[in-house]
Amino acid sequence: MILLVPEHAAGTLRGSARELVTAGRTLQAALGGEIHALLLGPGAAAAAAEIAKYGVQAHHSEDAGYEPFKAQVWTHAAAEAATMLGAKAVLVPASRSGLSYAPRVAVRLNAALLEDVIEVDSDGATVGGKRFTYLSRVTESSRTTALPVVISLKVNVLAPAEAAAAPGAVAAIDLPAAASGVEVLSQAKASTGGVSLDEASVVVTGGRGVGSPEGFTRLVEPLAATVNAAVGATRAVVDAGWRPYADQVGQTGKTVAPNVYIAVGLSGAVQHLSGMNRSKTIVAINKDKDAPIFKVADYGVVGDVNEVVPELVKLLKG
Ligand SMILES: Cc1cc2nc3c(=O)[nH]c(=O)nc-3n(C[C@H](O)[C@H](O)[C@H](O)COP(=O)(O)OP(=O)(O)OC[C@H]3O[C@@H](n4cnc5c(N)ncnc54)[C@H](O)[C@@H]3O)c2cc1C
Repeated sequence: MILLVPEHAAGTLRGSARELVTAGRTLQAALGGEIHALLLGPGAAAAAAEIAKYGVQAHHSEDAGYEPFKAQVWTHAAAEAATMLGAKAVLVPASRSGLSYAPRVAVRLNAALLEDVIEVDSDGATVGGKRFTYLSRVTESSRTTALPVVISLKVNVLAPAEAAAAPGAVAAIDLPAAASGVEVLSQAKASTGGVSLDEASVVVTGGRGVGSPEGFTRLVEPLAATVNAAVGATRAVVDAGWRPYADQVGQTGKTVAPNVYIAVGLSGAVQHLSGMNRSKTIVAINKDKDAPIFKVADYGVVGDVNEVVPELVKLLKG
């Protein structure tokens, strides 16, 4: 049996949940058994009903102690459920939270760990995973020699699963949040113009060519608002303190795969490309016709962002 631990926001599944199902189905084909999912925290019942549509047996615990996220508390829940249900594989998204508790679950289960993987496979006895390494220039393959295995799956990489013909069952699980020695004192919501970067279907990312933090408010944010997009940034921009780290797209930032990715004044360094090159349509605006971003762009405008972006906003509004 395969256990998924999908994330949700107040009952709405995150996009990564359907990617977990995709990986779960791949493993199920070789390992057999059912796919189960564990949903935790307020809204878990609604999220469980949603994931059950993918043929997954969904368990939920609405205990308020699962929010805000604490690695120790989620570790306890995932390890308990995996033991209770006899999981051969536990799959979590490689989000900030997932990356923080997946290794702890592996320790608790005395299991193998495959981290930040982009692909999974199994021959029925072992489980393999691929991940990017060396600035995304190398794809590393690892294989467990024994089960169970805990896997964190890179977000926005696998094709999201389609709903199943027969939905799974939904049931509450008696799994109260464990006590924790950690107290979260405050939380601040990052401002992404209302649209989450991980889930947005359109992303407008600004690079150093935008010129300044003011360039973001004058050019990137109005363009993003016009097309209901999330705002992203390159690492050069984040390192300069123009935008928060939460906005960074790329190898050491977020991986995004929107329908449309608009690259404004960024060069297209390999570390940036690895975070956005699965976008369906890429539009690039750069004054250098030889900028590497044009090699991956579907549409390109060679020009100054200060002239092109306001013109584009005007056209889109019209
Ligand atoms: C280990 C490691 C990890 C990294 N991880 C990441 C990551 O996660 N994400 C990331 O983005 N980078 C990452 N980088 C950094 C990466 O190598 C690049 O340095 C960075 O992406 C460059 O950002 P940029 O494109 O904004 O700046 P630049 O490379 O300086 O490009 C600016 C571009 O703007 C254009 N331009 C300038 N003025 C204008 C104008 N007025 N109008 C139009 N175009 C203009 C220029 O022609 C140029 O192409 C990483 C690097 C390392 C070593």
